[in-house]
Amino acid sequence: MRKKPHELQWLDVLDQRYLLAKEEFESFQKLQRGYEGEVQFDALVEYFFKEKQVSLDDITLRYKNSVVQIDKLLIIGHTVYLIDMKHYRGHYVFKNNTWYVGDKALTNNIFEQLRRAVRILQSIFNDNQIHLSVKGVLAFTNLHSVIEVKDEVDEEVLMTEEIPAWLLRLSNGDTTARHKVSQVLRHYTIAPYLTTRTFDIKNLGQLKSGILCPHCHQAQMQEHRFTMNCKCGYKEAKDIAYRRTICEFGTLFYNYNIKRAQLRIFFGKNLNERYLKFILQKYFMLKDSHHAKAGYINKGVLFEYWFEKEMNTLEQLQKRTSWKETKTSH
Ligand SMILES: [Zn+2]
Repeated sequence: MRKKPHELQWLDVLDQRYLLAKEEFESFQKLQRGYEGEVQFDALVEYFFKEKQVSLDDITLRYKNSVVQIDKLLIIGHTVYLIDMKHYRGHYVFKNNTWYVGDKALTNNIFEQLRRAVRILQSIFNDNQIHLSVKGVLAFTNLHSVIEVKDEVDEEVLMTEEIPAWLLRLSNGDTTARHKVSQVLRHYTIAPYLTTRTFDIKNLGQLKSGILCPHCHQAQMQEHRFTMNCKCGYKEAKDIAYRRTICEFGTLFYNYNIKRAQLRIFFGKNLNERYLKFILQKYFMLKDSHHAKAGYINKGVLFEYWFEKEMNTLEQLQKRTSWKETKTSH
């Protein structure tokens, strides 16, 4: 599963509970669109390659003193396609080794970034005696962009409408090298970067409090025995609603341990204190088991990533709860 970049997770939580500044809102939209572009690309890959495991997504590698973030690798035959997805809007021209938007030259050269990533990945393969060649691919995922590349470049440049045909052409290739690539890259993989944005925890009281409905985003969920029910009709297992909200707090305040006193403010007036305590003890780990005051370990990410390993069980829990509710209401 492709994860939202940490900065997007952070802005996502803040947006639901606070009025974003103009710059924050623009970054939020840009990151959101970029993420959707990547998810669409992933869906196309899945469609053309059926059940074949062919790609590695969203990896951050450290090699010697360099760190590189890679959107997607497609491993076909002896070629590893390193794909950089760009969700640009507008009219972009690449000429004389420079990108232009209108008459304005851009300072960051996305080909240079891509070439750097290709060089690093190729070095990793060479060091490990893996005989695969890395090819850079720049994929533009926004249908509403016009991209012109006037220089001759070594990289493959794909416009949105060209992506399906490109994937179809590759889809009969041999995909067996993926396993080996994945094994080797594991030794170089590091955790993805966290956002550098912060919200002052002293202003916690200014945030909209409560359990927010995942569907309508309002704080109008009512507590039942097993579920939290929203006025919009959405029902969620209570266990999940509590954990999800704790994770929202954790995402926003990723630099802090999770403490009950602060969660109390975050959950607001309808908090079931006993239930919160139960959920924290059941699912979260104390930072220091001898001193409960130190708080719980904070992974700083949203619920679906925090409890990633249990997602299947959780889906079952959600199903079972709706079954119970149906049964008792009749
Ligand atoms: Zn709702």
